[in-house]
Amino acid sequence: MKTWLVSRCLLGEPCRYDGKAKGNDRVRDLLKGKVRVVGICPECDGGLPTPRTPSEIQGGDGADVLRGAARVVSVDGEDRTEAFVRGARMAVETARREGAEAALLKAKSPSCGIGHIYDGGFSGTLREGDGVAAAALRAAGLTIHSETDCPGEI
Ligand code: SF4
Repeated sequence: MKTWLVSRCLLGEPCRYDGKAKGNDRVRDLLKGKVRVVGICPECDGGLPTPRTPSEIQGGDGADVLRGAARVVSVDGEDRTEAFVRGARMAVETARREGAEAALLKAKSPSCGIGHIYDGGFSGTLREGDGVAAAALRAAGLTIHSETDCPGEI
């Protein structure tokens, strides 16, 4: 059976910044019995508490953060880059240890977002790019999906 990493908030864990989950029936039904699921929460795994104030990437996207060219900040101005990079590296370590070949991650998150993330202005505006953990997993060779673009069948 294939192994997929899945964002823990999509699996129903209340690990989001606001202390809530984003449990997703479609994700659950899609994965059930077809893949071995390993849950990750890069923000929590990187050391951030729950709940926490929201974070966005400023000056680029997740790939830029990983190469030191952009940073992650909270809405109240705290630099959270180190925790986000740590959580992204832990996600890659988990993928390698567990033999994961794909990941299904929460859309738009500064960690888990795929293809589109918020632009750093905390105004609800999206820009192109991956979150930090999504970028790290993509660079490590995993196939990555969000809950909004995951295939209908695995
Ligand atoms: Fe954790 Fe990712 Fe969900 Fe954010 S989107 S709560 S980092 S699993």
